[in-house]
Amino acid sequence: MIRLKPSISNYFFILFLFLPTVFGNANEPIQHMVKVFVPSLSITEQKLWQIQQRVPFKLRYRSIDSVLVSVTTTALPQFTALIRQEFARSTTTILDSQPLSKMSDVNYYVLDTSLLPDLSEHTNLVDTLDSGRVVLVRANDSDVIGLPVHFRAKLPLEILVGARAPRLIKLTFQPNIELEQIIANISPQPWRQIIQTMTLNPDVSTPGYQFLSRYALRVRRAIQHDGQPEPDSACDNSGEWIAKQFQKLGLVVGMDSFQHTRSQIGAGKIGTYTMNNIVATRPGRGPNRDQFYLLVAHYDSISSKTKGWQQQWRTMPAPGASDNASGVAILLEVARLVRNLDLDCSIRFIAFSGEELFLYGSKHYCHQIKSETADLSADQIIGVLNFDLIGHDQDGNLDIHVVYDERSQWLANAFKTVNQKYEFPLDLRLQYNPSFIYSDHSPFWEIGIPAVLLSEESSFESTESIEYIHSQADNMDKITDSLGELAVKLAVATTVELAANNNSYVPKAREKEISKLLWNVILFPNPVNLGQGESLSLDYFLSEPSKVEINLYNNNGWSIHNQTYRIGKIGGKKGRNSAFRWNGKMENGQLVAGGVYTLQLTALARSGTSETTYLPVALVR
Ligand SMILES: [Zn+2]
Repeated sequence: MIRLKPSISNYFFILFLFLPTVFGNANEPIQHMVKVFVPSLSITEQKLWQIQQRVPFKLRYRSIDSVLVSVTTTALPQFTALIRQEFARSTTTILDSQPLSKMSDVNYYVLDTSLLPDLSEHTNLVDTLDSGRVVLVRANDSDVIGLPVHFRAKLPLEILVGARAPRLIKLTFQPNIELEQIIANISPQPWRQIIQTMTLNPDVSTPGYQFLSRYALRVRRAIQHDGQPEPDSACDNSGEWIAKQFQKLGLVVGMDSFQHTRSQIGAGKIGTYTMNNIVATRPGRGPNRDQFYLLVAHYDSISSKTKGWQQQWRTMPAPGASDNASGVAILLEVARLVRNLDLDCSIRFIAFSGEELFLYGSKHYCHQIKSETADLSADQIIGVLNFDLIGHDQDGNLDIHVVYDERSQWLANAFKTVNQKYEFPLDLRLQYNPSFIYSDHSPFWEIGIPAVLLSEESSFESTESIEYIHSQADNMDKITDSLGELAVKLAVATTVELAANNNSYVPKAREKEISKLLWNVILFPNPVNLGQGESLSLDYFLSEPSKVEINLYNNNGWSIHNQTYRIGKIGGKKGRNSAFRWNGKMENGQLVAGGVYTLQLTALARSGTSETTYLPVALVR
């Protein structure tokens, strides 16, 4: 007999465990535990949800290539047939020839293999998974093997497929906030270690080989043009590694795959690539568990500023330490540090691919949010925290920039409040800048979801980061531990404050906000120096395609310049519009007189909704 001390380190070994409730009740239909193995990354949450709509099953565990489900005897044939139909090369294995519902005192566990030698006396090995084994343990023996009761109680009894799936277990919300203690113990070492591993990107299947790159076109699955060399699997490899880290922390992990066609880089023709966003969900425990905060960071990298990249991107290193292993490391650290806290809302971590090719992963994700089969709808997402380029502090100021738009000001304020409350020595700089669209927060802005960017820099004009990013110099030398430690602390504290208490930060008027037609309107520069050849520019977002009218009035109420954009066309399309430019010349070719004018912007949607805004602008000659 062995007795494991219920220490923190045990938590790493135990991936997940199953309680006997649903099996122990004689009134429940007889259920079998079934393993579905699919030798690819195609078991997406969405696909499982679709299958669940057709035949009922309960998802008990999932890993990268397999899931464990419980299915009733009557539904079993249909389930097996559907799986065969939906996943080519899949296998289904029934793990219990004697259904568990007939053995009330037996529990299922998934344990890390490293625990097994000592547990053999009390366990019955059923099957293996990629990172663990499925074992049966008699209820009496679960205490013997030292799985602490409080730990067991914290785990969900089953994994829900999709947030819209009916919830079978009623959870009571008992907040359990030991936040201050968690924060006090945060050190930068685990964060740095994750960045180090990601920059080396060791091959999971070839020991000793390191890809040294996470460039998004270096993937396993590509449709090639004639004569082009096979790509390797650098980006897929990194995605798989990230997925496994989330999985070890007990999160529900899925791959959100999408295709991207790239015709050419430099002189070389290329093809169609399949990329993967890694989506890991940590369910909330409170009444607002159907509401989500998204913590996102891209994991792909690029070295396009290094000489020879255009020709040699298939082999060249792209370490991407600060851009953006640092952001992914924050996600993994938050997932690890909050894993034992009871939070009200759910948290979803997404590691995006294809960001450096221009936000392909986040654009894909935001596009599918609108589809019928999306497991999460836009109105379930309260806010998005995007971490990009947050590992390097050049000037010793320990500054972190929080970039927000009109709808996410409250989120930026939450960071500011938390930074003050916990007295972090961070120079937090809030920047209202809806034009800063160069990272994964911006596709969320486009569809009206509040999103903020946290970064060491928020201007391409700054000298602080511009030199080393997107080159081979973005390596471990650039990683500043003191900044990382504070960034992790800030991310943990803010995430927990937001997800634990939904009321003090989120504005009450959020629903009304979402229905706004016109937002993020900015006029720049203002004042505009027409005499120096400057032009007046206007940026705005539309919730729906609209007819847009722009009028510039002088003090006497005369319109001196106007512009109309057609519904759904440039200047009138859904999302961000930035077509308006005016050099100050009137119809007769003369420059308009200097002074303060009023710009009127009106949007009229097909539904009849209209919205008008007025902005003062100073014209200088
Ligand atoms: Zn980046």
